[in-house]
Amino acid sequence: MSGAVPSARSLIADARRRFEAAGLGDPATDARVLVCGLLDIRPTALLLEGDRPVAPDTVAQVEDAITRRIRHEPVHRILGRREFYGLDLALSAGTLEPRPDTEILVDVILPQLLDMVTKGLKPHIVDLGTGTGAIALALLHECPQADALGIDISEDALRTATGNAERNGLGSRFATRLGPWFDQTPERFDIIVSNPPYIRSDVVTGLEPEVANFDPMAALDGGPDGLEAYRCIAAEARDHLEDHGLVGLEIGFDQRDDVVQIFEGAGFSLLEERRDYGGNDRVLVFAPRLD
Ligand code: GLN
Repeated sequence: MSGAVPSARSLIADARRRFEAAGLGDPATDARVLVCGLLDIRPTALLLEGDRPVAPDTVAQVEDAITRRIRHEPVHRILGRREFYGLDLALSAGTLEPRPDTEILVDVILPQLLDMVTKGLKPHIVDLGTGTGAIALALLHECPQADALGIDISEDALRTATGNAERNGLGSRFATRLGPWFDQTPERFDIIVSNPPYIRSDVVTGLEPEVANFDPMAALDGGPDGLEAYRCIAAEARDHLEDHGLVGLEIGFDQRDDVVQIFEGAGFSLLEERRDYGGNDRVLVFAPRLD
């Protein structure tokens, strides 16, 4: 960087040039989101605040962040937080970065949840492999009558999810439990949600470096055929679900038929399905077959 005192605008321009040179996919957005995030200014405020001088220690922080991004660390990992369904969520080493496609699972489950409330229920939700708590917390935020349990095998994730619940004013309705799936969990729920690991083991290390090197493997690797988590959930879901309950799942783009088969074999019927923004199968909702 040359001459004049750096401003948000000059830092963004510098970051953008260096991201372009490094061949990153979306240098302009990355530069804007990263620098605005570190300087704590909204991108829409750049017009007013973009030329103010930036303090030297903040410039050093931006420099460090640019280097990390060039090494493929995702922008929101560097910032340590991201927005999901209108909530501000912290990320940590043990949490998958919530994806926009996962908001579709919230969209699909929410009307069902609100319908339970109109029937006089106070729905009890469990989020298996909760990570940042994204799915459960978004549902709680939209449905004040519900409470949720977030289960994860990562203590780091549970700490992060608890902090996220508190930061978003949802702490009194969100609890966490350590454990694989339902192992430590005797109770029944009205809603089971999960975005489990679903990438095939032989594919997982070949994912783009932003995912393979920075999202936790335990949140991605779904075993030899990518379906292990669904088998575990299906095997126990019936014993942990009320008769009027529902299971909402995120799935991999090519897993629809296999996951339907697994859940039909475990006593469920497919109630609803939804594609993601790329047109891929992404969300399935199952109800228990009451026969
Ligand atoms: N959707 C994630 C990805 O982009 C995978 C998440 C998962 O396995 N649940 O790789």
